[in-house]
Amino acid sequence: MILMTYCNFSDFLQTVFPFKVQKISINAGFTCPNRDGSKGWGGCTYCNNQTFSPQYAANEKSVSQQLEEGIRFFSYKYPAMKYIAYFQAYTNTYDALENLLAKYNEALNHPDVVGLIIGTRPDCMPNELLDELEKISKKYFLLIEYGIESTCNETLAFINRGHTYEEAVETIQRTASRKIYCGAHLILGLPGETREMILAHAEQISHLPLTTVKLHQLQLIKNTRMAQQLAENPELFHLYTVDEYIDLCIDFMERLHPDFILERFVSQSPKELLIAPAWGLKNYEFTAKVNKRIKERGSYQGKLWIR
Ligand code: SF4
Repeated sequence: MILMTYCNFSDFLQTVFPFKVQKISINAGFTCPNRDGSKGWGGCTYCNNQTFSPQYAANEKSVSQQLEEGIRFFSYKYPAMKYIAYFQAYTNTYDALENLLAKYNEALNHPDVVGLIIGTRPDCMPNELLDELEKISKKYFLLIEYGIESTCNETLAFINRGHTYEEAVETIQRTASRKIYCGAHLILGLPGETREMILAHAEQISHLPLTTVKLHQLQLIKNTRMAQQLAENPELFHLYTVDEYIDLCIDFMERLHPDFILERFVSQSPKELLIAPAWGLKNYEFTAKVNKRIKERGSYQGKLWIR
């Protein structure tokens, strides 16, 4: 018998679809309100959007073209596979309603696309758009992935996110009340956050109506404001070793609602852009290490969850 230690995304997809499903990253050419002055200037201090997209998701290509290329890449191995278009780069709900819907529908009109994942900011979800997304969610798989990043407003201000945690809570509640799957994205290890503060995020977000949670380690990327802060004030940062970070993820998982799907623990930015941490592990190698450590600790999701 395999002991279930945490809810993972591929198991979740298997409960939704009777066939194999793969995400295809799309750069639909949207921009970001935290860069163009509508919410803020300069963007989040850690953001260098070059890190977002695989080769096949270049924004001069249409959504259909990017899907075709992505599908060609995967279908070679699994011809019967179906696909979820993952609107990943920048803020994928930030445009005129008709432009947004045109891009989403372009993806959904592909015969092998069975759903959408839309990555966005919590301050960028008007009700008119939610009305349309609710209609889409009745026909297709739809997950809205909100970048919460931290539950601490002081941290959010320091990293220039341009929104508060309360705004994230309100938007997630508004989205989930339409029976649309909601995901939360958090960065573990932001400057000024102690281990205790990070673990408190798990307790806080466990009260939200979330379906998925995506974690990633703080990555310091070249040509960002955070890279400059690291050079000038290194004392603001705790650069986790891989083993420290693994234990942090497991501590986080133990405090997390047992029903949330833990989609990932790490993210890999291109090596040539990354300053730290340089762990040199592929995602699957990291996951294998996490699973080994979970076993050693006798750990499981929700072990320390407080209702
Ligand atoms: S991380 Fe997202 S919200 Fe922040 S500046 Fe970059 S694209 Fe905009």
